[in-house]
Amino acid sequence: MNSNSNNTISESSPAKINLLGYDLAHMKAFFSEMGEKPFRAVQVLKWIHQFGVDDFAQMSNVSQALRKKLADIAEIKAPEIIMEQKAGDGTIKWLMRLDGGNSIETVFIPEDNRGTLCVSSQVGCALDCGFCSTAKQGFNRNLSSAEIIAQLWVANRTLNQFASRDEDDLAVEKKSALSGVQDSKRRVITNVVLMGMGEPLLNFDNVVEAIHLMLEDHAYGLSKRRVTISTAGVVPALKRLREECDVSLAISLHAPNDKIRDQIVPLNKKYPIKELLDACQYYFKGDTKKKQFTIEYVMLAGINDSETNARELAALLKKLPCKINLIPFNPFPDSEFACSKIQTINRFKDILYKAGYVAVVRKTRGEDIDAACGQLAGKVIDKSRRVI
Ligand code: SAH
Repeated sequence: MNSNSNNTISESSPAKINLLGYDLAHMKAFFSEMGEKPFRAVQVLKWIHQFGVDDFAQMSNVSQALRKKLADIAEIKAPEIIMEQKAGDGTIKWLMRLDGGNSIETVFIPEDNRGTLCVSSQVGCALDCGFCSTAKQGFNRNLSSAEIIAQLWVANRTLNQFASRDEDDLAVEKKSALSGVQDSKRRVITNVVLMGMGEPLLNFDNVVEAIHLMLEDHAYGLSKRRVTISTAGVVPALKRLREECDVSLAISLHAPNDKIRDQIVPLNKKYPIKELLDACQYYFKGDTKKKQFTIEYVMLAGINDSETNARELAALLKKLPCKINLIPFNPFPDSEFACSKIQTINRFKDILYKAGYVAVVRKTRGEDIDAACGQLAGKVIDKSRRVI
């Protein structure tokens, strides 16, 4: 049975340590500092991330004395869901309340053979891409590792996905305890994409710690192919990422040359296309089996969608073993762009296809609840544009 207590980060007492965002290494260090054995870290990790427990009292294989000690100094707190919206196509969007009037959005996208959770990494975004509604809200702060993994934890809890402690489900529990992995037949969230609010590579350490938990067998046990970081291209961080946590990658390229990209992705002025693609080549270095490489390309009428642009893109990517995702632009209030016509998108796709690429047009999901790409807004108390 999952606990129904309503612990939320916004009510968190600052004196207590929130263990929700601790990966295995961090958890082991925490227990070692308490003078406890490392296996305690595995036990607590499983209670939190496989059984969805947020109350130390329920951790029945931990001694009474230790449970009491933990309750005195630590807590397991996630943000509170303040709104849940369901779209006609089954997509669910949650608005989660953080501190100081901020909130973030997380989206669950069910498909026939998988379920994808789209997770935010920052409150707002500082990159200011012209076609993105999150950008229009400005930037407040990075999310902590707890706030990032909490989105998966809360979604699992809401979708009733944690292994049950009920008698009937004892087999699942035993299997889970033995293998350390949730029963895959039960799993509804099979993939996680960091494509929500924010630029994940500008919140490197917290994102990496949360991803460790996604991949960790004693937590969610997802494979590297099923966890994707989407980035506008923070080149030095890509290099670091390869060493520390080489999951699947989606690059928000959106343009076949620097002239166009400078206009729509301002970060390009700092890290132009050649540097970015070189970093991608280094990231994958012949290894695209364990992880996937996707190029994202938002289709903006009259900006980046001509046949010449398609041929230019095909030539640009020729040394990279990538799949190309064409994303129809999702409009939002006051956006200055329009989506390319469907015929234009299809022609663009055909040119790439004939050049030998796997190019797909991303199906827009959750449109009726503003849950599509670039529409996630939450509530951001903007600090980036404050006039002092
Ligand atoms: N900062 C990261 C992740 C967030 S955006 C990044 O840039 O990749 C996730 C994806 O949605 C990116 O490819 C982004 O460019 C795309 N996107 C943003 N706004 C959009 C919009 N209005 N319509 C369609 N796609 C959009």
